[in-house]
Amino acid sequence: MSVPEVRDRLRETYGRLFWDPHGAPLDELVLTVLSQSTNDRNRDVAYARLRERFPSWEAVRDAPVEEVEEAIRPGGISQVKSRRIQDILRALPEDLDLSFLRDAPLEDARAFLTGLPGVGRKTAACVLLFSYGRRDVPVDTHVGRVATRLGLLRAGAGSDEQHDELTRMTPRGEEIELHVNLLRHGRRTCHARRPRCAECVLLSLCPAGPGFLAAAP
Ligand code: SF4
Repeated sequence: MSVPEVRDRLRETYGRLFWDPHGAPLDELVLTVLSQSTNDRNRDVAYARLRERFPSWEAVRDAPVEEVEEAIRPGGISQVKSRRIQDILRALPEDLDLSFLRDAPLEDARAFLTGLPGVGRKTAACVLLFSYGRRDVPVDTHVGRVATRLGLLRAGAGSDEQHDELTRMTPRGEEIELHVNLLRHGRRTCHARRPRCAECVLLSLCPAGPGFLAAAP
């Protein structure tokens, strides 16, 4: 079983995603912080409120933290996230210009991002991939779970290994499609508890599927 086989079956189910990198790494960075421990809808509401409330990222950086917290409250754990966002903004260059991430050596760009407060591999990969189309496949909890059950990733692998391996296996230019479709599959079918293997398009490729089916009530 290979990544292209998985990609093809997921493509038949969820379609093929075409995405133009948006060139806004700071927006992506904040959005990814806001996405932690909440759903997409609440994340988007929190992000929209933040952008409405403050005219610039500099203004978010320099505001009293309580004001940032109030703006992003619909996104949950706003006390933690507001401090995290300001910590990141304050660790960036004064002009908040991250455009160097587009052309910097990939390892350097990634190291810069993961050196920011609270920023790990997944957030760095989201920023690099969605902003500039750079080669990195974000592995969140859903992507990691599905890829591990499929045997693409080693059980117990850490975040660095998961990202490095999945990126290495993914055909060039298909990083976003694979990330998004594995994520969709994790949310809709390959649930953490009680995966719906009987109706899964990947069942014949999946080494974990028969075990789940046999254990099903
Ligand atoms: S067969 Fe089951 S465990 Fe394997 S990917 Fe599908 S839902 Fe997940």
